[in-house]
Amino acid sequence: MNGLDRPKKSWIEVPADSDFPIQNLPYGIFRTVSNPNPRACTIVGDQVVDLAVLDELSYFDQLDLPPGIFRQRYLNDFMALGKSKTAAFRNLLMQLLGEGQDELRAQAWHFLHPADKVELLLPVEVGDYTDFYSSMEHATNVGKMFRDPENALLPNWKHIPVGYHGRASSIVVSGTPVRRPKGQMLPPNAEQPVFGPSRLLDFELEMGFVIGQGNELGTSIATDRAEDHIFGLMLFNDWSARDIQKWEYVPLGPFLGKNFASSVSPWIVPLEALEPFRVQGPVQEPEVLPYLKYEGKRNFDIQLEVEIVAESGASAVVSRSNFKYMYWNMCQQLAHHTVNGCNMRTGDICASGTISGPERGSYGSMLEITWRGTQPVQMPDGTERKFLQDGDTVIMRGYAQKGDLRIGFGEVSGKILPAL
Ligand code: CA
Repeated sequence: MNGLDRPKKSWIEVPADSDFPIQNLPYGIFRTVSNPNPRACTIVGDQVVDLAVLDELSYFDQLDLPPGIFRQRYLNDFMALGKSKTAAFRNLLMQLLGEGQDELRAQAWHFLHPADKVELLLPVEVGDYTDFYSSMEHATNVGKMFRDPENALLPNWKHIPVGYHGRASSIVVSGTPVRRPKGQMLPPNAEQPVFGPSRLLDFELEMGFVIGQGNELGTSIATDRAEDHIFGLMLFNDWSARDIQKWEYVPLGPFLGKNFASSVSPWIVPLEALEPFRVQGPVQEPEVLPYLKYEGKRNFDIQLEVEIVAESGASAVVSRSNFKYMYWNMCQQLAHHTVNGCNMRTGDICASGTISGPERGSYGSMLEITWRGTQPVQMPDGTERKFLQDGDTVIMRGYAQKGDLRIGFGEVSGKILPAL
């Protein structure tokens, strides 16, 4: 099917400024009060579409999908079918939900659910989680604060998409509360560490990509094949305890300051939906090694924002950034990750690293926004924030826009609970 055949509108009503027009069709896993079995879904406007029921009504029969593929707890088996199958499914779904499907529309009560009446679950069984560090503005800001203002970037940074292996077990879906972590930290000017609740709890504004088909152990994924393995993207909040992190990270990197929680948005936006928003990445100088070279537009213009909502209800948008600022793109990250023969598996998540733009209003963490607490954010209820307080809810949102077309990610939110 070429682009000309694609329906421009759905028979499902889509409110103006919705994140979910028919051109999006993200994937999720949901359940309802009347049917608590998790199953796969997409969303158009404010209506969640039950894919398991559409499958049982035989609307997908022409694709010969494995039986029950949408009636599973996670999307992994569907993602593992590979890009040609999932892209064909997406095209069929777009036709079915496009204008003029009177027969299907007459059956809508079987498979449509108002979005505010469903519970969205973690959509992926995450095998491994890797976090990169690919925003030059973020790496520069952190380097200035923690090391050397004159030589903020370490010598390897422009040669390697720096990353570390995170923890998959603590990845939670939007809406899950996050407990303030406890740990060891070295107070300013102290000689001995103390133990207690983190005082410098922070968010990190990131995007994560999910692996569809992986690669065999011992093989690599080249930059020009990388997108065959990237199923889609989600919003990603990599919660961070700066005081724990600062004391523990030498010499092996992040550990307990990071692995207590990361939150993801419930919708996975397929890479195909982001085609219109490709942009050229920044010029990479010095020249990268051959295995990191790439062709074409591999960055994406996705507007991002972070809002803090206090327990009082007072709220402030503290950052407006953009995914296009990434120095290293996803294809380079995946090529680097696998160049040594490391195997990626279906459901693995790679996160971008904190996405900071060029100025303070676009920084992707409180660490940078308040410059280590020296420039607090004023909240409309008269309080101020250096880092996050108990009762604060952090909400991240993202969308790409071009003319009338808006492809959104919804949001990822999490409320801070006091330490136990
Ligand atoms: Ca991070």
